[in-house]
Amino acid sequence: MRKYVVMGVPGSGKSTQGAMLAREYDLVQISVGDVFRWHVKNHTKIGAQVRRIMAAGELVGDDLVERIVRDRLDQHDWNYGFIIDGFPRNRRQAEFFLESYDIDGVIYLDLPDSEVRRRVLARRLCSVCGMDYNLIEDRPKRAGRCDVCGGELVTREDDTPDALAARLRDYHEKTNPVLELFRRKEFVFGVDAQHDPETVQRDIRERLGLDGHHPVRPLEEDDSARPD
Ligand code: AMP
Repeated sequence: MRKYVVMGVPGSGKSTQGAMLAREYDLVQISVGDVFRWHVKNHTKIGAQVRRIMAAGELVGDDLVERIVRDRLDQHDWNYGFIIDGFPRNRRQAEFFLESYDIDGVIYLDLPDSEVRRRVLARRLCSVCGMDYNLIEDRPKRAGRCDVCGGELVTREDDTPDALAARLRDYHEKTNPVLELFRRKEFVFGVDAQHDPETVQRDIRERLGLDGHHPVRPLEEDDSARPD
């Protein structure tokens, strides 16, 4: 059983790295941001509650976030373990999490803010299958269209300069102290997130001491991050 958390600034590749690890090691991937995006897209009651907060780049209330995480983990379908990203984002969430679950490792994706801005403002998502692109490094073959399913590429509502500034501010003020809390427990594995996704994934596995028998493969259509 493996239980991991992925932390890092917006755009550091948390979902991508979580998905790559989950696929090879049969872990359940839980991306709290993806769960909220799913609710917004499907016009649920929760979606209506969080839409504006997300678009402004602010944090959703702890009660709702904790409920989402608890409900998901209570399903107990994670026979081989889970990997969670985008959570915990502040001290209260971290304390809630540590009280209820023991974790084997926190993967910290280290990326400077200047690189975050460059990456996030160039990020595009397929509105149909969720595959993500970057107009600088990972351009679609046909402008504005997904290579995999042909769906329209859109900008995440919170990938604007203002919302990104709010997300970075929250990250440094509220999420960084969580990292310190985990560091005291000595299970934070820092990885340089400036490399390409496959190199970052290799580094993560090495740091976590995972065996080298699983191939590191790029994500494809079937693996694109989706809510669990
Ligand atoms: P992400 O995809 O992780 O950047 O999350 C997108 C947005 O979802 C965030 O900007 C928040 O509005 C909300 N969100 C995701 N995870 C959390 C969390 N743990 N606590 C509060 N809000 C969250």
